[in-house]
Amino acid sequence: MADKIISGIAVATGIAIGKAFFVNRNHKAHLPRQTVASDLMPLEITTLHEAFTAVENELSNTREQVPEELKEYGLLIDTHILMLKDPKLRGTAEEYIKSLGLNAAWALEKAVSDQEAAFGAIDDPYIRERMQDVRVVADKVQAKLIGHETDLAAMEGRAIIMAHDLTPADTVELQVDKIMGFATVRGGKTSHTGIMARSLNIPALVGVDKLEDYVNDGDLVVIDGLAGKIVVNPTETELEDYNERAAFFEEYTRKIKRHCQLPAETFDGSRVAVHANIELVEEVASVIDNGGEGIGLYRTEYAYLNRTDLPSEEELTDKYVDLAAIMSPRKVVFRTLDLGADKFISAYGELNETNPALGLRAIRFCLKNPQLFKLQLRAILRASAYGNVSLMFPMISGVREVRQAKAWLAQAKAELRREGVAYDPDMPVGIMIELPAAVMIAEYLAEEVDFFSIGTNDLIQYSIGVDRTNHHVSYLYQPLHPATLRTIKLVVDAAHQAGIEVSLCGEVASDPFCVPILLGMGIDSLSLTPQAIPGIKRIIRQTNMHDCRKLLKDVLECRTVSRINNLVMDNIFKHFPDEVTFFSSLLENEEAPS
Ligand code: PEP
Ligand code: MG
Repeated sequence: MADKIISGIAVATGIAIGKAFFVNRNHKAHLPRQTVASDLMPLEITTLHEAFTAVENELSNTREQVPEELKEYGLLIDTHILMLKDPKLRGTAEEYIKSLGLNAAWALEKAVSDQEAAFGAIDDPYIRERMQDVRVVADKVQAKLIGHETDLAAMEGRAIIMAHDLTPADTVELQVDKIMGFATVRGGKTSHTGIMARSLNIPALVGVDKLEDYVNDGDLVVIDGLAGKIVVNPTETELEDYNERAAFFEEYTRKIKRHCQLPAETFDGSRVAVHANIELVEEVASVIDNGGEGIGLYRTEYAYLNRTDLPSEEELTDKYVDLAAIMSPRKVVFRTLDLGADKFISAYGELNETNPALGLRAIRFCLKNPQLFKLQLRAILRASAYGNVSLMFPMISGVREVRQAKAWLAQAKAELRREGVAYDPDMPVGIMIELPAAVMIAEYLAEEVDFFSIGTNDLIQYSIGVDRTNHHVSYLYQPLHPATLRTIKLVVDAAHQAGIEVSLCGEVASDPFCVPILLGMGIDSLSLTPQAIPGIKRIIRQTNMHDCRKLLKDVLECRTVSRINNLVMDNIFKHFPDEVTFFSSLLENEEAPS
């Protein structure tokens, strides 16, 4: 057996095998706490300032290397440089060296803790968020002071990066071509780290609790981005098995890529549109390369993150026009801001809510901040003049909310008309179905909009009552739960009865076990991460609707997830033998705690 097998949340698929290389260890526990004699204090103070300056210089160098496509992350580095220049933090640390005789690293820790205590008491979310940035820069200075900093030069050849956390700045510093895969303690599926991994297309896990306890520098590790596992120091046999799996995955990826530009049409001629989910406009190349027929979900909030100001209407319009024009005549569905819960913008700060997932997020946040909302609606409308643009509202819970959102859209249209600015007056408007309440009144909601898009990531979270970011209860997060399948079917049927189209844009759309069932329901389109498109198109092209309807009928009669799992496994074995080898690991669900 391997030394250890640890689990995490897979954020990018594939298998990587290589040596572990640690960056950003959590060094706080090892901080030296010593006192210095008064004659050595001047030297300690100089050391402190030199460490600040060295980190500042390093960050400035990194800043210069930030490529154009990551320019939003450059702004975060600027914020960190400003914090290093700020005399307050160094001044307080210097004071602690002088008055208490603390060593530099300890003095700095005390200075940061003081600030955390002072500002933590202030109920201003913006200040709290800035405090997190202060902690990040102080960590870097401390690492320098205690010699814990990462020596990137020591990384020979390519490696698998292990980190407590990876910031966008780290990713730039790390020269991505040298990274075979990575794993972090912190982060969730939609964290920056996760997004980065997906756009870099390297196997990656986040949320790996025990990473720092179980993995050492230089260990041979396997990152299994298919099953969400890290295998530490595998045995010969395990290594052989993983090498085989990795080679198979590579070959499979090459094979499916060859046909990815073909339409997603079943044997018996049913056509399903396969669109892509993107977070950044820069992902467009990958969408087209992987055979995406359009963009079914553009998560617009990412352009608001990682910066201290808000984008202007002109900035957004430029970005949106680019996207609409590049993709034209292909479709682009802009989802209006889905902020709140785990995504905050500095200018509004984190809301102090007991249950943020049930709080002021998405459309609720926008309706409470109409200026911010209207500015975005204007930018989307302006882009609609340049391509095939649709818009959808997230987290709709009732008819009134849709009407309110549409009223702001009407107002934005009226303004543009008065100003003589072009837009598409017939731009389709849809909503995301992510709440059980919306499912139950889908027939009424369908009368208000042009299309539905089912957001299963949230719909599963809210219907099964399981936090999508909490790995303690992830065994309950079941796309193939009978309730999930019935819920989706209710929405598809309601949409079709009302004569509108229905898409599905949650992670379920990239799940090979679920897709035949969705086809059986008659879903009109799927929207998924670009890298998963070739595989899903292949599944669709190798299936026929008759089998899918039969499978749907059978699964709807099942009472348990395990029974449904068996049926879908049988289906995959029968029709898609190539996929079985590695997709089967996806079904090795974690067990419930006993
Ligand atoms: C969803 O909830 O399924 C969805 C696609 O939206 P997000 O993952 O951005 O919440
Ligand atoms: Mg959602």
